[in-house]
Order: sequence, then structure tokens, then C-alpha cells
Amino acid sequence: MATIVFDHITKTFVDEKRGGTFTAVKDATFTINDKEFLVFVGPSGCGKTTSLRMIAGLEKQTEGNIYIDDQLVNHVHPKDRDIAMVFQDYALYPHMTIKENLSFGLKNMKIDKSIIDEKVRYASTILGLDDLLERKPKELSGGQRQRVALGRAIVRDPKVFLFDEPLSNLDAKLRVQMRIELAELHQRLGATIVYVTHDQVEAMTLGERIVVMNKGEIQQIASPQELYAKPANMFVGGFIGSPAMNFLDGKIVSGEYLQVGNSKWPLAPALKQKIASYIGKEVVCGIRPEHIRLTEGDGHATVTVRVCEHLGSENLVYFSLNGTNTIAKVSGESFVQAGEEVTVSLQIDKIHLFDKT
Ligand code: ADP
Ligand code: MG
Repeated sequence: MATIVFDHITKTFVDEKRGGTFTAVKDATFTINDKEFLVFVGPSGCGKTTSLRMIAGLEKQTEGNIYIDDQLVNHVHPKDRDIAMVFQDYALYPHMTIKENLSFGLKNMKIDKSIIDEKVRYASTILGLDDLLERKPKELSGGQRQRVALGRAIVRDPKVFLFDEPLSNLDAKLRVQMRIELAELHQRLGATIVYVTHDQVEAMTLGERIVVMNKGEIQQIASPQELYAKPANMFVGGFIGSPAMNFLDGKIVSGEYLQVGNSKWPLAPALKQKIASYIGKEVVCGIRPEHIRLTEGDGHATVTVRVCEHLGSENLVYFSLNGTNTIAKVSGESFVQAGEEVTVSLQIDKIHLFDKT
């Protein structure tokens, strides 16, 4: 069992040289469920690592309470929290074999040799390291070394695993492979995993739920599906999805129509229910590139193609819509040339409305 509760957690760093303060995490409240794979995602500096370090007890919160399994852990030493952390810069001991690297932490805990051997064997088997146990770290590939770093956490059999950007030093292909291995590992271990990344694809593929952070503040906590379909605000809409959501200025003219530039588009029934408070107001319309088509449709306009990028199975078409740079993601078979005039249509039922700020 391992549930983790953040109860109004704030972390303020004091800059001793310059005398100022900086709030890295602001009033965060959430619960991480037992056996959940929870991902923190957000741009660099938004407070992800600080949040993780507070769970581990390596950083002390300025305000608020942290509970692990209903126990208040504010004053519990990191060693006594039964948590293992895997960092981006995992350092293996270069002079030790893989087996020695895996067992080192346990030896320090004065655990019985037969139990250590058993735990090392278990970890090496599930990570596919059995044939590498007698090698030194320098004789391993980057992916294999990363697996050893994972193994060092697994042998401890902790209640909670914390991962801080563990894949960011690996090349793109290996990252995808390790992502799959991590998902499988979670199923096998049945442990609570808290995972930090700045990569929204990693977050969307690994997380059962995702905490989106920006500038120390939680923007939304939801499943990947919900983040994509119902972003709570423009930050989440723009951060999740690739290429990013387009944002167009518009106005809800009446309960029936949305006006974007010179185009007046009939509102989809699903939107009609949501717009009562917007009638007569300026809004920002979020539309994902994959929800714009190169055909006539409900919300259509004629535009001039600036660039068309061919990615194989799909094309990215760049154009200006009502003065705003806009991207459409269309099928690879839809061939258009730069300079060509085309009709684009927005799937009106897929539009997200945000307050104009
Ligand atoms: P992330 O992991 O999301 O990139 P961090 O949690 O590492 O972000 O940092 C959040 C903010 O807090 C950053 O602006 C960082 O500079 C600041 N910060 C982190 N650790 C310290 C520290 N020990 N002293 C002062 N500021 C810090
Ligand atoms: Mg970080």
C-alpha cells in the first residue's frame, strides 16, 4: 500500500546571495493513489523535481502537510520513507560489476546474503540483465546501464518509485523502447510510481493520470484522454498534443454562431450548451491541427498555404487564418503546394472555447 497526499504544499526557496525568495511550488493539493502511475509534466523550472524531492523527503516543504499511507511524514527522514528514486544522471559505480552495483545498497543495510542474492536475481530477470551481471558498467550500452539504475531501485522493493526524467539521456529510439519497458515494469511490480518528465508524449503514453504544472502551479490533474479532450485552460491545451493546439480569436455572436474574422460558423450542438456565458463576448477558440481538414465543411475559410511539410503518413500544412499562424495536420495523401489557395474547414464540434485574457 502506498498512497501519497499533498495537502496545500508550498515550497519557497530563499536566495541567500541575493536575499530574495522564489516559490517553486504553490499550494499544491492532490492524492496519488495506491499502485498508480502518476506523471508530473510541465516546462523546465515549473517545480516538478522540487515536488518529487519533497515526496522523497530530500526537500522540506515551506507550508502544508505530506502524508504517505495516512501517516504524516513531514518530519520523517528520507531513509525511513521506504521510497526509491531514479534520477536522470544515474551514476553506477564504475569499478564494480553489475551484480555488485545491484547489491551494494542492500549490503549497506546489512541484509542476509541469501536474501540479497534472491532480490538481485529477481531484478536482473525482470530487467533482462541476467547475462550481464559479471560485466562492468562501461561494457554496457546506455539502455542497459539505465536498466541497472532501475534495478538498484527494484532490489530495495520500496513502497514508492520516484523517477526524475530517467530517459532524457537516451536517444529517441531507445527512449521509446524504455518507455514500453517501464509500462510493463509497472504492471509487474504493482507499485506506486511517480514520474517526472518535460516531454508530453512520455507523459501521455506512461501516465494513468497526469499532473500538468506551470510556474509552480498545478494546471490540471486528469487522465491522458481527458487532458486531450477537455483541457482546463489554454496552457494545458497548448502543452498537450503535437503539433500544439491552434488558438484563434473569435466572438460568440449569438447562441448559434461563432465568428472568426470574416467567417461566421454555425456552432455544433455540443458547444451550444457550453456557451451561454460567452454570448456577445470575445473568446479564444482552440482547435487541434488534426481537427482541421482541407475540405469544405461547417467552419470553412479560404487560405493560402505558406509551407507544407511531408512527414510520410501525414502532412503539416501551415497557413494564416484571420491573421493567426495556423497548422493543419492532414493525411499524407493530401498534397498541397506552398502558395496554393485551399479551403480549410474546422471540425466545429472539436473546438475548445477559452476566456480571452
Ligand atoms: P523542474 O524540475 O520542473 O525543471 P525544479 O523543481 O527543479 O523544476 O525547479 C523549480 C524552480 O525552483 C526553478 O526555478 C529552480 O531554479 C528553483 N529551484 C530549485 N531548487 C532550488 C534551490 N535549491 N534553491 C533555489 N531555487 C531552486
Ligand atoms: Mg527537474
